[in-house]
Amino acid sequence: MPELRCLHVVLGDQLDLGAAAFDSFDSARDAVWMAEVAEEATHVWSSKPRTVMFLAAMRHFARAVQAAGRPLHYTRLDDLGNAGSLAAQLQLDIHRLKPARLAMTAPGDWRVLTALKAVAQTSGLPLDIYEDRHFFCTVSEFAAHAKRRKTLRMEYFYREQRQRHGVMMDNGMPIGDQWNFDADNRDAFDAAGPGRVPPRTAFVPDAITREVIALVDTRFATHPGQLDSFSWPVTRAQALEALQAFIRERLPLFGRYQDAMWPHDPWLYHSHLSAALNLKLLNPREVVAAAEAAYRDGRAPLASVEGFVRQILGWREYVRGVYWTRMPQYLECNALGAEEDLPPWFWTGATDMACLRDSLTQTLTHGYANHIQRLMVTGLYAMLLGVHPRLIHAWYLAVYIDAVEWVELPNTLGMSQYADGGVMGSKPYVATGKYIQRMSPYCKRCRYDPTQRSGDNACPYTTLYWDFLMRHEKTLARNPRMALQVKNVARLSEAQKQAVVERAASIRRGEVGVDAGGQQHG
Ligand SMILES: Cc1cc2nc3c(=O)[nH]c(=O)nc-3n(C[C@H](O)[C@H](O)[C@H](O)COP(=O)(O)OP(=O)(O)OC[C@H]3O[C@@H](n4cnc5c(N)ncnc54)[C@H](O)[C@@H]3O)c2cc1C
Ligand code: SF4
Repeated sequence: MPELRCLHVVLGDQLDLGAAAFDSFDSARDAVWMAEVAEEATHVWSSKPRTVMFLAAMRHFARAVQAAGRPLHYTRLDDLGNAGSLAAQLQLDIHRLKPARLAMTAPGDWRVLTALKAVAQTSGLPLDIYEDRHFFCTVSEFAAHAKRRKTLRMEYFYREQRQRHGVMMDNGMPIGDQWNFDADNRDAFDAAGPGRVPPRTAFVPDAITREVIALVDTRFATHPGQLDSFSWPVTRAQALEALQAFIRERLPLFGRYQDAMWPHDPWLYHSHLSAALNLKLLNPREVVAAAEAAYRDGRAPLASVEGFVRQILGWREYVRGVYWTRMPQYLECNALGAEEDLPPWFWTGATDMACLRDSLTQTLTHGYANHIQRLMVTGLYAMLLGVHPRLIHAWYLAVYIDAVEWVELPNTLGMSQYADGGVMGSKPYVATGKYIQRMSPYCKRCRYDPTQRSGDNACPYTTLYWDFLMRHEKTLARNPRMALQVKNVARLSEAQKQAVVERAASIRRGEVGVDAGGQQHG
């Protein structure tokens, strides 16, 4: 066997033939290494849609690697002798293939980076780690940005990125002389609802994806989620088609309705591109450029385009920076001392709370929920209840098709749970059920009343909101952005407080919110 100069490790979220690790690739002397391993579907209880998303995209990418003439060593999940974890499989293949060195693009997860570095070390092989070009900002650039500041805030980082990369800028100034159009981007739908929203760009599973669906359904039969309607883009060509359709059909109203929710319509005006971006089927630069071009050609309004660009050039890059500059300690954050279990119906959708039932059901069916459902329905409930951050983190990482730790963890621990004590956001995103009532019609169809904080009909969000303020009164009173909300606690009588405490206790005991006869998924 001729000597193998370099084995190029490609992970399930690095599916780009143009990745930096390939710059020095020589098909005559190097080979690509990919492996499907059970550990990636079991280290959290990965939902079936999420596992199919990764495996189907990997198998399609393997074809592209071969078509490009690059030698490939690919281990399938059902291969005899599959070692079960990335580290163990790589170790086995190093022994068999005897490469002189290893190369890879920087992994997205701390856990994976640590495990693969250890394999290289025990094998005595040099490991070249290349910068991931799928981000506007490198980790060291983010670290330099963070070093200059007492507190991190997304807004300042985002402005810096716009300037540095000349995105939506004219003569050094933001287009429209304004950085932020949030005020134009907060509408709910009126009573008539969203009307006819362009249908989502869906892809009928081909033979490769159907084979993966059958495999996952058998191998991970007890895992949560459903596969009947799996229709996500799993190739670069499909991802590009989804991007073009979004720019053409949804971007013009994206901004206006980005915080809105509507029952049984998970898609609305969102892009549904997060998984394609995270698996590197799309490059954020081309996504941002396509949105900016739509504005400049008069195909989409400024507020919408700015709102969309902010999500990608701002939030997406910012959370990655927070992750890599704070790990591994970040995983242990629990600033509010939350210790509760996750309600078991998060895995089934069997709750009688209309907003949660709908958000959980669509999550388990499609592996998707929009940002507001993640932040202000599931995330808010977990924070108000006081769920331990590690448990809610494991849930988010398991259920969404776009879930990879570098983006999921800061959003969950930082933005939605305030477990990092204010690194990601300046205050906890707390609200009563009235927020959900304002942004959706869920409450009209619910057996609870968002205006009630105690009593049999009290909305659990509203009860838990007051309970949260009372439990964390001292800590929150020190936060100037929370002071007004906390002051309201003093307006409650002792009897009113006691009623809240008792109702909150019965919610925690599982006596409220559970739909005993409700549907089960998975
Ligand atoms: C608790 C919680 C957990 C989350 N977990 C994930 C996750 O595992 N993976 C993930 O990609 N996103 C995550 N997000 C961010 C966001 O909810 C999703 O990116 C978005 O809902 C995906 O749907 P979309 O593609 O239709 O997004 P759109 O609403 O169309 O937004 C456009 C793009 O902007 C990016 N984006 C938007 N918001 C964020 C954000 N807060 N952080 C990073 N990128 C953002 C995404 O790439 C998204 O595709 C999480 C948010 C919360 C509150
Ligand atoms: S009343 Fe409360 S639980 Fe019911 S839909 Fe509204 S916010 Fe959700």
